[in-house]
Amino acid sequence: MTSIAVIPGDGIGPEVTDQAVRTLDVLGFGLVFDVLDHVNADTYLKTGTALSDADFDRIAASGAALLGAVGDARADTAYARGVLLRLRFALDLYVNYRPARLMHDRFSPLRDASRRPIDCVVIRENTEGLYTGIGGRLRPSTSQEVAIDSEISTRHGVTRILDFAFSVARRSVCMVDKSNAVRHGGALWQDCWALARGRRPDVQTSHEYVDAAVMKLVHDPTAFDVIVTNNSYGDILSDLTAELAGGLGTAASANINGATGFGLFEPVHGTAPDLVGTGTADPIGAVLSAALLLERLGHDDGATAVRAAVDAVVAAGQVTPDLGGHLSTNDVGAAIRARL
Ligand code: ATP
Ligand code: MG
Repeated sequence: MTSIAVIPGDGIGPEVTDQAVRTLDVLGFGLVFDVLDHVNADTYLKTGTALSDADFDRIAASGAALLGAVGDARADTAYARGVLLRLRFALDLYVNYRPARLMHDRFSPLRDASRRPIDCVVIRENTEGLYTGIGGRLRPSTSQEVAIDSEISTRHGVTRILDFAFSVARRSVCMVDKSNAVRHGGALWQDCWALARGRRPDVQTSHEYVDAAVMKLVHDPTAFDVIVTNNSYGDILSDLTAELAGGLGTAASANINGATGFGLFEPVHGTAPDLVGTGTADPIGAVLSAALLLERLGHDDGATAVRAAVDAVVAAGQVTPDLGGHLSTNDVGAAIRARL
């Protein structure tokens, strides 16, 4: 028996997470669900606590976690950070793993998608880079004001994300940086890349500067398998690949500690306040996140079955309005379960 911590969260989070849990339930695999449905903005607004120590411990003790979305216009940013960043840093979820696979030609924004079906994974460093908040503002509000954000790359952090990318490579690994312009961090990434490649001579590799990478991704996404990059480039590239694969409603992600294997799985989209209660939120991103969870737990056959079921409902047009259909969140979930 493996316990899965479930954090439905806010907005459409509970609606899509419910479909993900029910999908996993159909498959069995001895998963039991520990639902923390009190971890949400209402609780935060009442108590001032985003994630209590007791709830953190429940999540940390589970075999994996499934998350909907957290965020609320009524709460300050300390709320979402108190949940997401606490889990990310305390559990050291240094890998952000975002697969992008075109499920149907009609979802691609590219002309002639049939010749350019994207099927890649962006592996984004999740704990350092440009987003650590290190920096400051000098002479604030004067005409001489200067703002500085430091981009942090550590040998430890770069090495482990590159090694993780090799560990999940199927055909090849492409490292993306901007080492022709970002001198110090670029040089460190290049050093670590040379060493990581040396450890895995069996894997085909390539390197792209980030500006060239975006052009090539649009020109020929089939050229990419695993893309590994830093926090900020990964942020941007993974939104591009998600859109090339069909958009926000279907994109899945995982936040993983490559050493312990623990993962937090969540759809890429947020709380989508405009859709709450309409019953039209696309559950596919959440369901495919559950497939990633199965894969991480070693149930590759289950993950494959879920993807095949999703492909089948998509091909049959049994989809929500964001994908051009007229089914509800629950109808799409039921159609997926029926095929399992
Ligand atoms: P947050 O601040 O939590 O990220 P947001 O307002 O940015 O919330 P997102 O969830 O990021 O909203 O999504 C942006 C828009 O994309 C939504 O307003 C919605 O219209 C659409 N969208 C997002 N997720 C889905 C989904 N699962 N199904 C259909 N449409 C979606
Ligand atoms: Mg958003």
